[in-house]
Amino acid sequence: MVRIFIDPGHGGSDAGASGNGLTEKDLTLNIALTLDDVLNEQYDDVTTRLSRSTDTTVSLEERTNRANEWNADFFLSIHVNAGGGEGFESYIWNGNFTNKEETRRIRRTIHDTIVEQINWRDRGKKEANFHVLRQTSMPAVLTENGFIDNPEEAEQMRSEEWISSVARAHAEGIAEAFGIEESTESDPTPNTFYRVITGSFQTEANAKQRRYVLSKHGYDSFITEFHDGDSVYYRVVTGSFRNRDNAENRQNELRNIGFESFIVSFET
Ligand SMILES: [Zn+2]
Repeated sequence: MVRIFIDPGHGGSDAGASGNGLTEKDLTLNIALTLDDVLNEQYDDVTTRLSRSTDTTVSLEERTNRANEWNADFFLSIHVNAGGGEGFESYIWNGNFTNKEETRRIRRTIHDTIVEQINWRDRGKKEANFHVLRQTSMPAVLTENGFIDNPEEAEQMRSEEWISSVARAHAEGIAEAFGIEESTESDPTPNTFYRVITGSFQTEANAKQRRYVLSKHGYDSFITEFHDGDSVYYRVVTGSFRNRDNAENRQNELRNIGFESFIVSFET
């Protein structure tokens, strides 16, 4: 049984980074909870613990103490970057320690899997003297998943799809690094989302205008490109749901304020 300790960065009074109306502590928690579900539901011989499963303040000492006391095989700290940039980077401790080669091997597998799955710009495999990397007695990796202050990346972060894709990429990387087998009982059906499209435009500027108008009504949207032959359409996605009924409810709400929409299914 492989013990994976999942650490959603920040929480409670420590919000972490923020930008574009998003807060790091919420994103890291959502990714961590989804990763926890994926590992438990779809893989065999793996057990997990979280440093927090709600929006609570947990000190760095508590995080590493809990992982050490539990005797975890791996410590994963999930973060979202800020400060101007784009893409993905990961960290291991910059000190000298006995299992550094093993930590490097695990990090390489996880990092490369995530970059490939998300099609992210690779900012590199880095080292730093972070508490959670230094004070853990097992291999530990910290991931920085996109930039909250980058408008394009933040737009993706608003969707359940993004959270799910990032969590799944972490799960696949961990499974590969630790030789964890996918459960044969698990349902192999892909992850389907229902997207509510409130406009499909030939120019991105028009799509952005629609997104802006919808935001004035309190609806967050993101824009995706749809290719039809040689034509490209910019679709405004005002909600992406796992449940079709929820997508239809959104469609009705939008109709009530004067926006016609259609629903498309999307698989990750
Ligand atoms: Zn952080």
